[in-house]
Amino acid sequence: MKNEFAARSLNVAAFANAGESHAGDERLARFERLLEETSGLGGETLLSYQVQGELRQDAAGQDEPWLRLRAQATLPLICQRCMGPVDVLVKFERDFRFVASEELAAIEDEESEEDVLVLTKTFNLLELVEDELLMAMPPVPKHNVCPKPVTLHAADADFSDEPAEKSNPFAVLQQIKDKGLG
Ligand SMILES: [Zn+2]
Repeated sequence: MKNEFAARSLNVAAFANAGESHAGDERLARFERLLEETSGLGGETLLSYQVQGELRQDAAGQDEPWLRLRAQATLPLICQRCMGPVDVLVKFERDFRFVASEELAAIEDEESEEDVLVLTKTFNLLELVEDELLMAMPPVPKHNVCPKPVTLHAADADFSDEPAEKSNPFAVLQQIKDKGLG
């Protein structure tokens, strides 16, 4: 039997060396920072991710471990136009290259198109998934088309309450008649 996939302490080099892949689901409740964005809603929603490990040669012909990572989740957010609930699909797909040290990662991340991370035997893949989903979130969540027209119902009701009687056409007509006859 295969070892259980350790999403929170992944041995990246071993995973990439073996060319393994994994697909998993996690409840949104396990991602504190994403749950903050939904104001605690959607804890039972499933976030799904897929990861593929592989070795690629660098310019000098050396094997380097890479992860190709994808994830998606539908987050219950608040529409900033109508202030109603809106489900927003948030997703990303990105490649990560792993190098031996923090110094190397800092230098190479600047120069590379892909993201460069530090190789570790206990890499928290779910934390990376959460980082990336947070960055992929729309800055201003909105419905494509809001379900209700945006009106100020409360203000309308207040406004039409009082003057309704005053402008009653029959009352006005009666006043004119009274004046005319009197
Ligand atoms: Zn809306």
